[in-house]
Amino acid sequence: MGTRHFVIHFAICALCVTALDSNVWAVTVGHQDRARSLYQVVVSLDGQGNPVLPVSVYKGAKRVQLRAKGGLRVLSTGGGTVSVSLPGPEGVMVTASEHTDGQRDHWVAVARAPANDMMSLRREVQRWKSFGHKVVPRGVGATYGLKGRVLDTRRTVLCLDQPFAEMRSARIKAASLAAKYSRQVFVHVELASPPAGKLTADARAGVTVQADDVMWFEAIEGTLEVTSWGRKGKQSMLLPGRGYVTVGAKGTMVVVNEARIETLLEGVVAAEIFASAPRAALRAQAVAARTDLLAKVGLRHRTDPFSICSDVHCQAYKGAKRLPAKIIEAVKSTRGQVLTGADGRLVDTFYHAVSGGHTENNENAWRMRTHPNLRGVSDLRPGVPNPLANGATQAAVKALLDSPDRSYAAASGRNKRALRWTVKRTPKEIRKHLQKVGVTRPLTGVQVLKRGVSGRAIEIELTQLGGSSIRLWGELRIRRAFRALKSSLFLVTPGPKDRKGVPRWWQFRGAGYGHGVGLDQTGAYGRAKLGQKYREILSAYYRGARLEQLY
Ligand SMILES: [Zn+2]
Repeated sequence: MGTRHFVIHFAICALCVTALDSNVWAVTVGHQDRARSLYQVVVSLDGQGNPVLPVSVYKGAKRVQLRAKGGLRVLSTGGGTVSVSLPGPEGVMVTASEHTDGQRDHWVAVARAPANDMMSLRREVQRWKSFGHKVVPRGVGATYGLKGRVLDTRRTVLCLDQPFAEMRSARIKAASLAAKYSRQVFVHVELASPPAGKLTADARAGVTVQADDVMWFEAIEGTLEVTSWGRKGKQSMLLPGRGYVTVGAKGTMVVVNEARIETLLEGVVAAEIFASAPRAALRAQAVAARTDLLAKVGLRHRTDPFSICSDVHCQAYKGAKRLPAKIIEAVKSTRGQVLTGADGRLVDTFYHAVSGGHTENNENAWRMRTHPNLRGVSDLRPGVPNPLANGATQAAVKALLDSPDRSYAAASGRNKRALRWTVKRTPKEIRKHLQKVGVTRPLTGVQVLKRGVSGRAIEIELTQLGGSSIRLWGELRIRRAFRALKSSLFLVTPGPKDRKGVPRWWQFRGAGYGHGVGLDQTGAYGRAKLGQKYREILSAYYRGARLEQLY
């Protein structure tokens, strides 16, 4: 006699138990559109009233093992209406089969704006109509409620009326429209149908649990240990709370943790700022990161079965890992606090390493609407004359770089090499990078055409041998064109020229690290060191924003 073997199958809408033979039982449980619901973002509350978000911990997994010391439960849905308890520490091994890939639509998008901004949306519709293109609105983002407060991250994306099945075709179309009309045109991807497949969890106890598309797990007590075998080899993580395994691309699986927002933030704050920073700086960073996290809900990973990834792209999430007590305190003491603007929406709380003496207006860093709470401000200490006060001209930037650094960032005593810097770039070092922006011949001239309020170059002209020139907009593109400059707040001078008149190098003398918008992390450190409270720090960098207790 073999051991009694149970096959439990989670699939359609009703619960039914069928005896296949005396030794094998099939239990079928399920939910309509269980997979699709994973792609619709929701901030939900866990059993203790803590807001949680689905965070991907592994992608591309071929096999996934789940274990917990005191055993685990396999659940039919996130709500856990039907569950199978598997006592003992052995856990289960999950594999996927009968896979079909998901489908995506690739829309060519010509504008985006908050969903309530009818004025600018209408203007864009008219503009593209006059160009001879019909555009249709597509919605992204979400509205969600937390303790009675409704938050709205919805945006409208205006797209050409027919999507492409292939990314490549959409990109080609977008590039041709961008060139023709000198407008920003991009590809907006939507999920047409999610990937599907069968998941099988085998337990040593002779029990097999099956489900279509998705399977939820939780530890009976304590944390869940997840081990994944995939492209990156074998990886393990301890997860607090509940998680699910779902089908991903090409027959692989995705492991997702329904993580508490406050736990996620501990990881973010630890990754973002020196743990040695004074309390007020850590708290200011915690509020900025919380606001940013909640403002992104529904805008990122719209075609993934989770809303936030654990990579640097979104959040540096390490699961149930121990972090410095000071970091945990900074998150706890600001629990539920966010920054909102006059319109009641969450502020896009950008932050960066070092401003270089002055922060930047958001619309100068990215082609986006002017944000009233993201105006550039001086980061120089009180009483220090601000050379940029009457405009960030070439001469003003020179005066800033020539004067001793008396910024709040300098007062921190940290990040010294990012405060002021000088680098040289030879033609050979930057050739590949310049090629990407269309410079195919040796560079003979670099001219800053436009600077933002912080002194950052936001538009430059590159002249190549033979005389033709290329204009480049955007601080990040400018930094990348010269092989990862710390910031675009620089003065550039050519070195001695060769026989053809090509400079042997370009010297960049600059200040700061990053885009310069919003909170200056090193400046926040310096302000806290000099006694400012976190509310003061936040209102210095996010002028006019309101600190709101969301939960
Ligand atoms: Zn991400």
